[in-house]
Amino acid sequence: MQLEYEDFTEKTREPRLNRPYGSPELINQTVSADDVRDGIRVVVDDEMAFDAEKIANGTYTPITGFFRKDELDGTIDKLRLPNGLLWTIPLILAPKTLQSRIKKGDRVVITYKNKDIAMVDVDETYHIDKTRIAEGVFGVNNSSHPNVKELNENYGDTAIAGKTYLISPPEHVLKRYELTPKEARKRIFGLGFKSVAAFQCRNPPHRGHEYMQRAALENAEALFIHPILGKLKVGDYKPEVIYHTYDYFVNEYFPQDRVLLSPLLISMRYAGPRSAVLYAIIRRNFGCTHFIAGRDMSGVGNVYNPFAAHKLLKESEVELNMKFMFFNEIGYCKKCEQTVSDRNCNHPSEQVKISQTAIRDMLLNGAPPPPEMIREDIAKKILEISSALGGPFVTD
Ligand SMILES: [Zn+2]
Repeated sequence: MQLEYEDFTEKTREPRLNRPYGSPELINQTVSADDVRDGIRVVVDDEMAFDAEKIANGTYTPITGFFRKDELDGTIDKLRLPNGLLWTIPLILAPKTLQSRIKKGDRVVITYKNKDIAMVDVDETYHIDKTRIAEGVFGVNNSSHPNVKELNENYGDTAIAGKTYLISPPEHVLKRYELTPKEARKRIFGLGFKSVAAFQCRNPPHRGHEYMQRAALENAEALFIHPILGKLKVGDYKPEVIYHTYDYFVNEYFPQDRVLLSPLLISMRYAGPRSAVLYAIIRRNFGCTHFIAGRDMSGVGNVYNPFAAHKLLKESEVELNMKFMFFNEIGYCKKCEQTVSDRNCNHPSEQVKISQTAIRDMLLNGAPPPPEMIREDIAKKILEISSALGGPFVTD
């Protein structure tokens, strides 16, 4: 029998999923458009718009507002907020152009695509040192790193800190598919699950992803596939391609009542271990108890040791109250005739590496990628969805 989620929570009267991080309740801060008529308008780009919404809707619980200077410094220097809580990626509001001088006590209204989306009760303004943020958070000060490029191109020099309230969610082509932490918890509660594994991704599913997802479903009762699709970098698959391919994959290959899919509309942070911890915290706020961590999680180029993310997650396991499921390199073994990892197959010379880059190149060149890397119907689906969008990859 399937219980309605209201019945379920009513009957148990206790949280069965993981509690939000660092707070007894999910952060939920909203304000009506009527209340902010007199606010000072500041225009922002995608990253800050998504972050404003996610602070206000509890995705970043226990964060209640864009960072003060002491929060930024603590995050960079100690991976800690001033209250001692583990936190790895700063959330900074520093619009490129500020029309007026903003000071403590002002009400700032964040506008995105000509719409008021959020309001900040200004607590502090301060100068940011972009070099320090780039080196401290992303490990390099070089605009070939997508987040450093974003910082240099789309952030100004003055940050505005303060409690942040949602007026209206920012637009996105996948907005209608996105679940808030509250909505996702209700869905998972509704199915009665006590353990849920989160899968972080930013690509359509290949055989290596599927291997990890199936392994996760042996350990947790449900799987939450949560691709980050807010803002991707040039050369990545377009968000619609990733989402709709996943939707097809989940419907076609997984038990419907055990797998939940939602896009996560924030910008991808390629900060290796720091990103891995942020991504785990976000999934804990969605109620997840388990978190799947592949090799070189959230890495870019050769900036991070491929196992640095595993190491930091391992050290944080107790504090984050999550079970991490680590995976090494996954490949197809011709001798075993199946997808394997080096933990369960003894034929390294028989293994074909599953490479996203190789799949991408083959799709670009019109060559079908081998089914050992990506299912034939998935590759077909990618091309089918892409043809309506003028190509599979982000070009600007
Ligand atoms: Zn083998």
